[in-house]
Amino acid sequence: MNAETIHQEQIEAAIQAVGVANRPVCLHSSLRSFGYVAGGASAVIDAFLAVGSTLLTPTFSWGFAMPPPVEKRIAQNGWDYDNYLGPTGGIGRIFSPNTKEIDKDMGAIAAAVLNQPDAMRGNHPICSFAAVGPLAARFIEGQHGDNVYAPLDVLADMAGMVVLAGVSLDKMTLIHLAEKQAGRNLFRRFANDANGNLAAVEVGGCSDGFEKLADPLLTLRRTAHVGQSYWQIFRAREALVTAAAAIQADPWITHCGRADCDRCNDAVKGGPVGI
Ligand SMILES: [Zn+2]
Repeated sequence: MNAETIHQEQIEAAIQAVGVANRPVCLHSSLRSFGYVAGGASAVIDAFLAVGSTLLTPTFSWGFAMPPPVEKRIAQNGWDYDNYLGPTGGIGRIFSPNTKEIDKDMGAIAAAVLNQPDAMRGNHPICSFAAVGPLAARFIEGQHGDNVYAPLDVLADMAGMVVLAGVSLDKMTLIHLAEKQAGRNLFRRFANDANGNLAAVEVGGCSDGFEKLADPLLTLRRTAHVGQSYWQIFRAREALVTAAAAIQADPWITHCGRADCDRCNDAVKGGPVGI
């Protein structure tokens, strides 16, 4: 056996040690960060399921996004309508929670969650979540185009946790929900609904500045090393309340620092208006 190989049992032990066992977990992860995992992404998923967790992951699919309607422009919506360079992949396509399409940058573990035989996927064409485990249905049933972060609301309500496994705060979708709870409107993007009609859906904005939330979240954070993977662990409710308060106190805390970032510039003003 290669000494560098990580086994499912080690991951289970780590999950137990950081207090995540038997709790629902939203996992943001880089499989590569672990080093070599025997059994790959499935072994990581099985480790969470073996200790009684329900596992939730973002499973975004921007390939279903459509250009905005030309006749109805939403103000302060985080993009430049006159020089539209956004996605067009959704033209002629309709998303269904049964589709297995997922953006490549969601990572191998999120893709593997989605492909579990009993996985459930939310009904959001661009920013769905998928879940496996005993509470999967409860997380997924509330998600739709008008409530993109319903699964994270449930996570907070059920004393769930967020685990960042080898990734940084810029992958922590819960901070987008904190933006909403701080009073911002979420941006609207477009996709075909089940009938093939263009529909606006809620999405998160730019997360490139979220590392600046590290300070307010610092005392809430637990950390661990699992193989070579550095984990940050948060109680969802605590992190949500703290991040929302920090954003209310200083809306610029989420700004990525790029002067020409339409999304961050509009987010600090409160997001889209007239929706
Ligand atoms: Zn930005």
